[in-house]
Amino acid sequence: MVSVSLIQASPATLGQNTTEHKDQSDEHRTSFVPASDVFTPKSTYEDHFLKWYESSHERWRWFCSRCGTNLAYTAVYPAEFSSKFPNMLDITLGSVERRYLETEALVPERHLWWDYGIDWIRDLATKGHGDLPIHPNYHIAETVNLDKSTSKL
Ligand SMILES: [Zn+2]
Repeated sequence: MVSVSLIQASPATLGQNTTEHKDQSDEHRTSFVPASDVFTPKSTYEDHFLKWYESSHERWRWFCSRCGTNLAYTAVYPAEFSSKFPNMLDITLGSVERRYLETEALVPERHLWWDYGIDWIRDLATKGHGDLPIHPNYHIAETVNLDKSTSKL
């Protein structure tokens, strides 16, 4: 089960810029609740930054009203399709904090939409990085030598 926490929109959080937001956000968070309870269109988010719009019938796009970041996509399928297409909640990985990305719960289990993928991204996913230079951080003059026999850094 995926849980989420929202940041309350208050005078304290409204005035924060993006760098302050990162450092001070925990004190303005609600407790974690099941994501399926949060990403259900309803009008009770007036005191939070989470907003949504219905992009097409039974499809909702979720975003942060403070910075515009796309956060999630939800789809509800008619009952006759429920065995093939369960209701869906996609959460953008870029909106998930690193400490949660590093948990086993978020290790990918499958690729969807493979036939529509970009060739070079599919190659990275299946063949690895090949001969691409690997930089340990943002210093592009520094590279890491990869031991190809073990695929370890
Ligand atoms: Zn935001």
